[in-house]
Amino acid sequence: MGFVYARTLLLFLVLTLLSACSALPTRLPEASPSPQPSPTAAAQTTPTQTPEPGPPEPVFTPTPTLPDLPAPLYNITASLDDTARSVSAVEQIVYFNRGRDPLGEIPLVAGPVMYPGNFQLGGVSSSAGPALKNVTTDAGLIRLELAEPLQPGQSITLEVSFGLYLPTRVESTYQRPMVFGWSDRQINLVDWYAYVPPYIDGSGWLYHQPAPYGEHQVYETADFTVQFQLLNARAGLVVAASVPGQELNGWYQYELRAARTFVLSISPDYVVQSKQVGSTTVTTYTFPLHALAGERVLQTTAESLELYSRLFGPYPHPGLAVVEADFMDGMEFSGLFFLSNGFYNLSNGTQADFMISLAAHETAHQWWFDMVGNDQALEPWLDEALCTYSEYIYYEALHPEGLPWWWAYRVNYYEPRGPVNDTIYNPRHEVYAYRAYRDAVYLNGAVFLHELRGLIGDEAFFAFLADYSAQNREKIATSAGFFALLSEHTSADLTTIRKKYFTGQ
Ligand SMILES: [Zn+2]
Repeated sequence: MGFVYARTLLLFLVLTLLSACSALPTRLPEASPSPQPSPTAAAQTTPTQTPEPGPPEPVFTPTPTLPDLPAPLYNITASLDDTARSVSAVEQIVYFNRGRDPLGEIPLVAGPVMYPGNFQLGGVSSSAGPALKNVTTDAGLIRLELAEPLQPGQSITLEVSFGLYLPTRVESTYQRPMVFGWSDRQINLVDWYAYVPPYIDGSGWLYHQPAPYGEHQVYETADFTVQFQLLNARAGLVVAASVPGQELNGWYQYELRAARTFVLSISPDYVVQSKQVGSTTVTTYTFPLHALAGERVLQTTAESLELYSRLFGPYPHPGLAVVEADFMDGMEFSGLFFLSNGFYNLSNGTQADFMISLAAHETAHQWWFDMVGNDQALEPWLDEALCTYSEYIYYEALHPEGLPWWWAYRVNYYEPRGPVNDTIYNPRHEVYAYRAYRDAVYLNGAVFLHELRGLIGDEAFFAFLADYSAQNREKIATSAGFFALLSEHTSADLTTIRKKYFTGQ
């Protein structure tokens, strides 16, 4: 995420019950039936906010432990009814136990958990591997109790059918961008399917409940095969996705490898522009009024993609989509990020421009979020501080004329302070709790990285970043791992700087 305007929003939900059937993944789903209100279903999936107070603690060591086994595979077939604003889908999950612990239960994080009642489970079954003994749902999770444990090295194939009734993007109680759902000119499907969270040997399943600000989900790298169609569609709908697809007989088909998420964004208004960077196609999806600003976003994204590929390691996907968002802030996903129309509105045509710095920031998330994962709830600095400092690296390398503005208005104006290793759950009594979080994790985090770079020197700093990216590729990095690897790249005493910026050191 990039930069949130703190607001208090009121969540308005339209509840519905879609068809309950246990469909096979190879069968194409039918159009969703007329939605019916279902307060019961909503109550079952209402997430509870359970703050986890106190400073973060490193909770695990990097995964996986059996790397030769395949990553989880998600094979999803989905139909979006553009008129009913609902989705009917079937999903097959092939999951290998790549750890050392037998697994007696597998939880599925059930799609848009922040929008209770919008995800309706039709059915879930096991078609290969251990049978299911019991299925329960609570707090955004589908808990699958297995008849016998899934042993290390063994796989299970799950068939899940589900429906979504998309919420309109209206006021919510969360001080966060409303990404999932619809507006008149944009439908976004993000975190829209059930997925298996990471499992950490000796520690258990790694998932969290949402907080009023910040991201809370932790994703394992997975492979995706998606078939998607539009029903009852308005004319001229354009589909943006995490990876370029093919359209055949009305079905869009996508293959995405080694990614954290698969997302879609649909609009009748997108102006589409693209630019080639090596083997990667950068494509922008922009509302017509902002076509000129969209060209600048395309240029910035292409430049930063090329730069970060050189510094942090090659970009892994064939495409990167940039979608002008009909909501506030920016938001990163694998192979696709959103950038608020507010940034386009205020774009001033120079480099001293939040639209430019945020485009560089969200591009950096393809490394610090997608390629190198982290626990976004307990150690958010591992992606957000690195992405904010990557903005600096972008300006320094390519547009140094923007640096004085960047320091003055992106960072120092907010007088950054607070522990860089803050969590999204740290209870605060301040009116602008999000700002305290951002000032610590994003801004003070960037100040820390700049001071660290000055301390150990450019050569060691960039060698470390490249090594950190390579060592943690397709894994979930930790703060402990960050500093352990850092100590291999420098003999400098880091005690003072760690105490200055981090709690619990
Ligand atoms: Zn971010």
